[in-house]
Amino acid sequence: MVDESSPGELPEELKDLVLTEVMTEKEAHDWVQLKSRVENCKKCSLHHMCTHKVFGEGFPKAPFFFVGESPGEKEDVSGRPFVGKSGRLLRKCMYEAGYRKGDVFFSNVLKCRPPKNRKPSKEEVGKCFLHLWWQMEIIKPKVIVAVGSTALDAFSPKPKKALGSYRGDKISAYGYKLVPVWHPSYVLKTHQSLRVTELVKDLGKAFALVYPDGRPETDN
Ligand code: URA
Repeated sequence: MVDESSPGELPEELKDLVLTEVMTEKEAHDWVQLKSRVENCKKCSLHHMCTHKVFGEGFPKAPFFFVGESPGEKEDVSGRPFVGKSGRLLRKCMYEAGYRKGDVFFSNVLKCRPPKNRKPSKEEVGKCFLHLWWQMEIIKPKVIVAVGSTALDAFSPKPKKALGSYRGDKISAYGYKLVPVWHPSYVLKTHQSLRVTELVKDLGKAFALVYPDGRPETDN
């Protein structure tokens, strides 16, 4: 994928990593390459403005691939996705819906924070989408959870209705199953407990696509 050359010897940074336990050597190489591609990306002007690129984190062979909009302030500073206020709400709702650590990889449509958390432009989304695409191609998630309308729009190029009319539904996107859910920052803005309930319920619907009979016992 990312590079056509043969993987050859495993680089030092891959040895003893969880990657090689769950991925083929080729996938692990591609993953490391992709990370460095994101790190060195200069396709749009956002790379000048961000503190850290936020590649994403989680289990690299997770059944659920969560895609948000873009890093916020806390994410930009830490280099980690969904660690601010809205991320904490999302993680809490996910836990309530049954998700556990090994189930998820978190990513975003944009890997760099737009100034003042403005909405990403179409051009920025177009330029960054390939990074997301390769992440999905390596992880091969069973379900993509589109967190908020920017993520939903990035996967559905046709004109569409508002996220509210699709939330919790299973949609087909590029051969993947995708479930859109409210963005937690929207939920926080509305101050409505109903929105929290809806978020947990929709996360539960996505969860049931992989675990229709509940989650198998694990210790994580
Ligand atoms: N909002 C997002 O969409 N992504 C993050 O990583 C954090 C907040």
